[in-house]
Amino acid sequence: MDLKALIRDIPDFPKPGILFRDITTLLRDRDGLRYTIDFLAQKCIDLDFQPDYVVGMESRGFIFGAPLAYKLEAGFVPVRKKGKLPAAVHQVEYELEYGTDMLEMHQDALHVGSRVLIVDDLIATGGTASATAQLLEKIGCELVGFGFIIELEDLQGRKNLPDVPIISLVQY
Ligand code: IMP
Repeated sequence: MDLKALIRDIPDFPKPGILFRDITTLLRDRDGLRYTIDFLAQKCIDLDFQPDYVVGMESRGFIFGAPLAYKLEAGFVPVRKKGKLPAAVHQVEYELEYGTDMLEMHQDALHVGSRVLIVDDLIATGGTASATAQLLEKIGCELVGFGFIIELEDLQGRKNLPDVPIISLVQY
């Protein structure tokens, strides 16, 4: 299936000069959504990830991470922006284009040695995924890999990630 045909390009969003890859048009397509989750799950099976948990980042990482966890018979753990999670959290600060932001995960969500797959809709610079990997490192989890629907190759985000297998379904 041609996933690129289902992803919409929005020029100048969220600011002038940025070409935003909009996955809402993929999500609303019943065949596209099913194909995307099945395709990602199959790649995870082929790479023998066998995660105990899929960790997804707010907010589009939730949309793909939860059904993937279901298919892989894993649990799902959300990573959220600062102040959204109710129980005690681990925090990591990460760089944005201007300034920094904070990601948080519940302290008791994962354990030493948990096999974890990190999932998001898109990798650009790799800053978000790398910060999430740092949260796992604080706990002593075993990061088995990363899964993305879209990879913006020019930004070379892979270079900023730990040395584990990285799946992307569509490259620009
Ligand atoms: P990075 O941290 O630079 O790799 O940026 C990736 C994060 O920004 C992900 O959580 C994406 O959801 C979001 N993001 C950046 N660019 C786009 C885009 O064009 N479409 C959708 N999400 C984007």
